[in-house]
Amino acid sequence: MVGGGITGLAASWEASGHPGVHVVLHEAEDRLGGKIRTSPVRLDGGTELLVDEGADAFLARVPDAVELCRELGLDDELTEPAIGRAMVVHRGSLRFLPTDTVLGVPLDLEVLAGTGLLSEHGTAAVAAELDRDDPPLSVDVAIGPFLSERLGPELVDTLVGPLIGGINAGDVDQLSLSAVTPQLADAAADGGSLIAALRRRRPAGNPGPVFHGLLGGTGRLVEALAEQLVARGVELRTGHRLDDLASTGDDPVVITSPAPAAAQLVRQWSPDAATELDHITHSSVTLVTFVFERDDVPGPLDASGVLVPPGEGRFATAVSWGSSKWAHWDDGRHVVLRASAGRIGDDRAAHLSDDEVVARLLDDLSDLMGVAADPVGVRVSRWPLGFAQYTVGHLERVERIEAALAADLPRVAVAGAAYRGLGIPACIRQGRNATRQLLDRMRAGG
Ligand SMILES: Cc1cc2nc3c(=O)[nH]c(=O)nc-3n(C[C@H](O)[C@H](O)[C@H](O)COP(=O)(O)OP(=O)(O)OC[C@H]3O[C@@H](n4cnc5c(N)ncnc54)[C@H](O)[C@@H]3O)c2cc1C
Repeated sequence: MVGGGITGLAASWEASGHPGVHVVLHEAEDRLGGKIRTSPVRLDGGTELLVDEGADAFLARVPDAVELCRELGLDDELTEPAIGRAMVVHRGSLRFLPTDTVLGVPLDLEVLAGTGLLSEHGTAAVAAELDRDDPPLSVDVAIGPFLSERLGPELVDTLVGPLIGGINAGDVDQLSLSAVTPQLADAAADGGSLIAALRRRRPAGNPGPVFHGLLGGTGRLVEALAEQLVARGVELRTGHRLDDLASTGDDPVVITSPAPAAAQLVRQWSPDAATELDHITHSSVTLVTFVFERDDVPGPLDASGVLVPPGEGRFATAVSWGSSKWAHWDDGRHVVLRASAGRIGDDRAAHLSDDEVVARLLDDLSDLMGVAADPVGVRVSRWPLGFAQYTVGHLERVERIEAALAADLPRVAVAGAAYRGLGIPACIRQGRNATRQLLDRMRAGG
């Protein structure tokens, strides 16, 4: 395996469950987990709070992460957010996002109107979509222009753009409908009104939690995997960058690194795959964890956090209200805020020192949330190549990469955040599937 993030670890877990397979995992860094890391934030006075530096939750709808947690015996540590509602900055002030939406596309127009986020004209444009009779959509398109044309630009600028762009640190005018928002692409394939198609897909009854987390942080998943992989005899070689595929002989290899490292590894044997991999770009994100005394943060903090649309002209892209979102981060005395900066086309944070990033984010916290006091704990986490950008045609590109590898390097597969979903469950699924496919191919003598 190349890469010890969640994809490489899940791929190793799958491979090591097959009798007679010896697994070696190469990880360039001296720690496992890649973009999953849970570590203590030191507070003034010497105490510590254990808080995720990157991913803190995984989607319940894609079952692979919960299933893996169960296989690893982490059932008792599964938890869910204490609060589901989120807010958005709208013309400088904080507003609740409507609850009944699919990635910002509203299912209940009364709820949307109640948020006051859209003008009368904007709300009417959304309502008019219910009368549309569009043919089924069968090609990939950019999310922003497609939804603007269907539902009006106001909804996209105010709601859909901040939400989808925020999740991917990307730009909805570039991102692919089918790769980033398969639920919307699937509904658009029905033809007719998109809202009506989404309503038909709405699950009946109580849908259960949208997200899960782990009481000790998502890092528990990495810890448990590492421990049990070692127990199964897997060799975990940290601090070991694999630069040359030749050293792996005829063994099957799953490459789970970000796309540039994957391109470098396969270029010599599969130039076509490497050229396609070169087209997958990434955005970089800096996430700062702030801990404040409870009394220093005004407001009820009754949301999971706030999204900051690019049009608001701020440095922050989002502020997750960690101690409101997760009961296990709320010690009763402090408020945990995780503020992010950086998205595609906005690299300012990457070029500033940690102190400068912290100062810029504190300015935003002061203006947007009225936080005037100094934090009692601060931690800066940098995520270069944090989010792969699935631009229009991404899934066709991934298919071309897979086809080129199958032809040129049949013992090698790529999997992970750069390809078929960057959420933790999608990465786990890809790691496991790639392993199964390679082992099947090897057994069939391919
Ligand atoms: C700030 C942030 C917040 C996020 N929040 C969420 C969230 O709440 N929920 C969610 O589901 N997802 C979230 N994500 C996305 C998710 O965390 C990642 O997409 C996922 O963890 C990526 O896993 P991966 O194994 O595919 O890649 P990575 O984690 O990038 O792992 C790849 C590994 O490969 C190693 N590597 C690279 N080149 C080589 C080489 N040549 N040899 C050996 N090793 C190599 C790297 O060092 C790295 O450890 C978030 C991401 C970020 C950055």
